[in-house]
Amino acid sequence: MSHSGTSFSHLSTFTCIRCGLTASAATPSAQRRTHCPNCLAGRHGRCDARTHPIAVAVQRDGAWMLIHRCTGCDRLEAGPVASDDNQLLLIRIAVKPLAQPPFPLEHLAQI
Ligand SMILES: [Zn+2]
Ligand SMILES: [Zn+2]
Repeated sequence: MSHSGTSFSHLSTFTCIRCGLTASAATPSAQRRTHCPNCLAGRHGRCDARTHPIAVAVQRDGAWMLIHRCTGCDRLEAGPVASDDNQLLLIRIAVKPLAQPPFPLEHLAQI
């Protein structure tokens, strides 16, 4: 059995270490799944600890990336958002900075 390249089986599964959901290891767009489609938690390959989604970022091509912080080593990891990811949770993460601005928003109205 060869381990060369980034091959992974479409038959293998991803089991979430947070909510226990079992999903296919490949996303609908045939990318390797980096996080749970239900609760968006992931697993850090380096230290095997759980990663917690903290933000979304948009790439130049418009694709969304989910930014995770590892609960074990505090490293930040980015993984592509899959089309079957929990959209409500993604939106909640995306608008979180707007709901908790580090400055009073009333000032924007005076500009
Ligand atoms: Zn989960
Ligand atoms: Zn880690």
